[in-house]
Amino acid sequence: MGQSVRISHHENQLAEKQKSFELQQPLMEQIYKDGFAGYVETLPNLPEAFDLAKHRLDNHSACICCMDEGTPWGVHAAGSGLLLSAEEFEDYTHMAKPDAISSHAGCGAGKIYCQQHGLPEGNSDQIARQWAEATAKKYGLPHVHIPMEEMQRPPDFHVARVCYYDGTGRLNNDPAVGLPSGFVVSRSHLGEARGLEEVKVAAEIIFGQHGFGELLTKDQPFVVAAVASDNFQLQQMIEELAGLEHPYVDRLKIDGFLAKLPK
Ligand SMILES: [Zn+2]
Repeated sequence: MGQSVRISHHENQLAEKQKSFELQQPLMEQIYKDGFAGYVETLPNLPEAFDLAKHRLDNHSACICCMDEGTPWGVHAAGSGLLLSAEEFEDYTHMAKPDAISSHAGCGAGKIYCQQHGLPEGNSDQIARQWAEATAKKYGLPHVHIPMEEMQRPPDFHVARVCYYDGTGRLNNDPAVGLPSGFVVSRSHLGEARGLEEVKVAAEIIFGQHGFGELLTKDQPFVVAAVASDNFQLQQMIEELAGLEHPYVDRLKIDGFLAKLPK
């Protein structure tokens, strides 16, 4: 066997990312071309994406799950709220009224938490899980851990082409409905400042080594989609997002659409 036929793990992962990126490309082209609002007009089952009863984790319909595109259940916050202050988390629970708190394998927010607190990144999953367990106990809620094999994405990298900036607090990414895989920031439960911070976290993850990185370009941008209950809210959220300062501004497109809630 010559050196030339050996494929490193890194190259292999790059090829896998490329494949996943291209697989999503036709759908994304449609969104780039018609805008998200035009695209969702073609989705007859859109209300299902806003139906928390259809996105239960075990028996829980309002479990706090990560913003990770691989955990499309319940309500969302980075690392299930790990990056929030105790006070912010308290406010979040008043809004979201959670019935459980989860943690999951391969949590990017856990890594960010470790960086922020000078903790070993290699233990980030364990640290995020312990935080979720302790927080669930404090609030008298059940804790659920989501292992990698239950995640709705590949184990080694993120496949989100979109971050949903959700003003309804009910959205889950739902490929069966036709909504592309995406991070979900529950803007309605987090408020503006924290909501925007979480969009930055999503961008850090997807433009970094565990995300699509350089595959995202000016012509094939990452999309941040405001999801609003009415036109006034939509306009307001799009303006919020337009003020966001981050290093990826040229490769990120701000868009939005109106929610269709289940009857
Ligand atoms: Zn996570």
